[in-house]
Formats: sequence, structure tokens, C-alpha cells
Amino acid sequence: MEHGVWRMEHNGSPHCGVEIFFNGELEDLLPETGKEKYITVESRGKRSVKDLVQSMGVPHTEVGGIRVNDAWVEFSYLLRDGDRVDVFPISPRAKTADNPLLHRCEPFKNPGFVCDVHLWKLARRLRLLGFDTRFNPGWDDADLADISQKERLILLTRDRGLLMRNKVTRGLLIRKTDPEKQVEEVLRRLEIDKNVRPFTRCLVCNGILEPAALEGEFFEKKLKAHIPPGVLEWCKEYHFCPSCEKVFWKGSHYEKLIGLVEKYLGELEGGRQCQPPCVRFVGNWHCLFPTFILFIQPLPVLNPSTGNREAGRTLRNPG
Ligand SMILES: [Zn+2]
Repeated sequence: MEHGVWRMEHNGSPHCGVEIFFNGELEDLLPETGKEKYITVESRGKRSVKDLVQSMGVPHTEVGGIRVNDAWVEFSYLLRDGDRVDVFPISPRAKTADNPLLHRCEPFKNPGFVCDVHLWKLARRLRLLGFDTRFNPGWDDADLADISQKERLILLTRDRGLLMRNKVTRGLLIRKTDPEKQVEEVLRRLEIDKNVRPFTRCLVCNGILEPAALEGEFFEKKLKAHIPPGVLEWCKEYHFCPSCEKVFWKGSHYEKLIGLVEKYLGELEGGRQCQPPCVRFVGNWHCLFPTFILFIQPLPVLNPSTGNREAGRTLRNPG
């Protein structure tokens, strides 16, 4: 077997030489010289397998299991001279009862996300699918790591260094650059397609949408003035966002957005979600699309920094 040699000399002793192999999609993260082969790494002093893995450019959040000399180990395992290490991504191969990292391979029950500043288009698409997705362009790396830890949110980023922080225990390194492909990547790798609840969140602020009654003081004073008369004549169902006060109804872009949702789900392996997603997930189209939301006529909203009212943006598609 061909061997690559990465020399990582540490001060101290004793000498420790190990071989390490990155399986599956982890290989994407290696330079060409490290692919499809065991890599020999020589170092000195005690070193955990987690430290070794991350020093080779693979964030710990990408790892679903590690075997050393054919036995599953924890991240804290201290390497010994002559060890042979196999690193697995979060994948079916790592789903065995004796893997101490097995919990990393289980689909998240209620996945929520925090996206870094470069992934705002992905954030809006995840909101379209109903996922709790936090995003603020003012958050720096430390903020993102804090929020991910405190709120138990999955940190989505293309920055490996950010995912290597100790605080970050839930994260996903996004490989794709196209936002449409990124959505598929998140659904497929985290196996969360069953959690999709389209059109239940505000794309702008992440608020949970609520149905709006077509009568009463709230409708007369707040909503009605912002719905074009022509729309009121044919549309009898509206939703609004309690957080930013935008109002939603089924507009001309609704069919396009349904098409987007079906496309995201249909691109998963085997196309098993190709059918209308509501049928698969809820069993009734009207359960998942109880009223036809979309699309937006902005209401004046309070600017949180100034307290002044300002017009919201008109959304036409996820971004
Ligand atoms: Zn909102």
C-alpha cells in the first residue's frame, strides 16, 4: 500500500509514528497527496487522536467515528507508536453500538441552525423549509461559537477553523458554493428531510408565522391597509409574522416556491422525496400548507435600533 508521510515534529519525547486513513467524504478535505492512502504521521510527545485529526484539516464536527487498530475509540484516545487509525464521517458505517461517538451519527430530532455571514442565502432557504435558522451579519466567529453552544444549534460554515473550536460541538462544514446545492447538502448529510415544514417561518426574521383573522381590530388597523385591494378580493387566507409584522399570502410566486421545496427534497439520494413533500411528511397537503402563505407585502416595522417605523422589504424568492 502506498504511504504518504507527513512529518509533524513536536518538542519533547517519545517519538510516535502512526498511520491514518480518512474515509468517505472526509477525503474531500485532504490535499491530493493525502487521498486514497494511509498517511504516516510522525510526532513527539503525547497526542490525542482528535488533535491529530484536526491538525490535518478535518474539523472534529465532521467525524462520526474513529477506529484505532480495529477498535472504536473516543476523541481523547492518546496515540501510541505504531497505531493504525481509521477516521469515518457521520455515515452508516459508523452507526454501530460500540462506537462511543455514535450519538454524532443519529439524526437531530429538532435541528436548528446558526449560519455564518457568508451563508445568508442558505439561511433563507432553510427558513423556507421551516428550520429555526439564526443569522446576523454582525456576529463574529466568537459570537457564532457561543450561540451554537448555548442554543444547541448546528453551526453551518465553510470555515474549518471555526468548527475546530472546542466550544463548537454541533456543526457542519459546507462544501458546496451554490446555495441551492447547499440546501441539499444539509438535508442529505444530517438526514433531516423528515423535519421539513415549508412555509411556516418568516424568511426575513426567522419568526414563526401565525394565521391572521380577516376581522377584528388587529386586521382592520394593521393588516388590511397593507394588503392590496385586488388581493383582498380573491385571497381569504393570510399569515403574519409576530416578530417583524410582515404579512404573507399566496401570491404569484407560491408555485415557484413549492417547486423549489420539491426540488430540494427530490434531489436527495434515490429521489425518495420526489412526491409532493406534504404527502410524505404529514399525509395531507392542507395540513402542511394549511393556508397559502406567500408572498409578501411589507408592513411598516419598528426599527429596533431607532424605534422608528420603516418599510420592510418585499420578498420575491429566498434570495
Ligand atoms: Zn418576520
